[in-house]
Amino acid sequence: MSDPNPRIEQFRKMAEADPNNELGHFSLGKAYLDAGETAPAIQSFQRVIDLNPEIAKVYQMLAEALLKENRKPEAIDRLTQGVKVAGARGDLMPKNEMIKMLKDLGAPVPESIAAAVPQQTVGQGQVLCNRCGKVGRRLPEPVFSNAQGKLIQEKICADCWREWIGMGTKVINELRLPLSDPQAQKIFDQHMREFLNLT
Ligand SMILES: [Zn+2]
Repeated sequence: MSDPNPRIEQFRKMAEADPNNELGHFSLGKAYLDAGETAPAIQSFQRVIDLNPEIAKVYQMLAEALLKENRKPEAIDRLTQGVKVAGARGDLMPKNEMIKMLKDLGAPVPESIAAAVPQQTVGQGQVLCNRCGKVGRRLPEPVFSNAQGKLIQEKICADCWREWIGMGTKVINELRLPLSDPQAQKIFDQHMREFLNLT
C-alpha cells in the first residue's frame, strides 16, 4: 500500500472528529479529488450539500468528480442545482463556471439565471467586485500591507470583504488552524482566495 496522503489524513480526522463540520468535509472532498480518488470525493461533497445546500462551489466540485466517474446525468443535475444556488447568492465565479460546464455538456442552462449581467458603471469610491460581480463600495485602504492586500482592495467590494472576515473566522475555528504554522497559513490563504474568487 502507498503512503497515506497527509492532506487527506488531516481532513479525514477533522471530518470524523466533527461530522457536522461542513468545511472539514469540503476540504476532505477537495483533497480526495486532487488525489484522483473520485468515489470518496463524491461522498464528501454530497455530505457538505446535506449539511449546507447553499455553498455553490460544492455543486461544481461534485459535478467534476461525477464526470470523472462518467456519471454525466447526475453531474448535469448537480450543475443545474448549483447554478440556481449560485445565482440566488450572487456567487459569480462558480455560477459562470457551472454555466460553461453545462454548455460543454450540451445541457440546458436555467434561463432566468443565464441572463447576461447588464453593463455597470463604476463610480468614484466604487469597485466592480470580482466575487459578487456587482459594483460595490471600495475598501478605503489595502487590507494587508502586501501585494495581496492591494489586489483585494482593487478587486473586492467592502461587503464581500466583510463576508469573508466572518467566513475566515469560521475557517480558522472549524479547521482548527494554528496560524503560526506556515502550512495552516497556506490553507487559510487558499480558502480566502477561493472565497473571494482570486484564484
Ligand atoms: Zn462583492
